[in-house]
Amino acid sequence: MGCPYRIGYGNDLHRLAPGKPLVLGGVRIEHSLGPEAHSDGDVLLHATVDALLGAAALGDIGELFPDTDVRYRGMDSSIFVRRSIELLRDRGWRPVNVDAVVLAQAPRLGPYKTAIRQHLAEMLGLGVEQVSVKAKTGEKVGPIGLQEAIGAEVVVLIEPTGPAA
Ligand code: MG
Repeated sequence: MGCPYRIGYGNDLHRLAPGKPLVLGGVRIEHSLGPEAHSDGDVLLHATVDALLGAAALGDIGELFPDTDVRYRGMDSSIFVRRSIELLRDRGWRPVNVDAVVLAQAPRLGPYKTAIRQHLAEMLGLGVEQVSVKAKTGEKVGPIGLQEAIGAEVVVLIEPTGPAA
């Protein structure tokens, strides 16, 4: 029998604009800029969805939740994560742990990290100690560093929910 685990990777990037609400990992962040997006533009949750779907080879967020679909306008991206977890569960998979990086020049995410980890853990059915959220600036260069965009990268490990066939 081979290794029962599978790994998934996802990333996301949204353009930033003044006066838009900034939500990361389902947590509202105080900031003067926010993502231009069809849904709530939560880059951390969008990257998490792609990591989950990728681990189970179930496609990607654009295929499952197309931004041409009016139902998803302004949508809380937590819905996409919960739906992805259901899809994995239907196929006999559950997450083991998550490691995420938010790419943002500002604001500092330190004060929000615990709340973000707790919300992610709750959605994924994990303990908070199984969810890592890190933050990285863009060193004031490029789209991240100049605050033209915000991004996220996520890896997730999944395991079979039952005994391997
Ligand atoms: Mg996105």
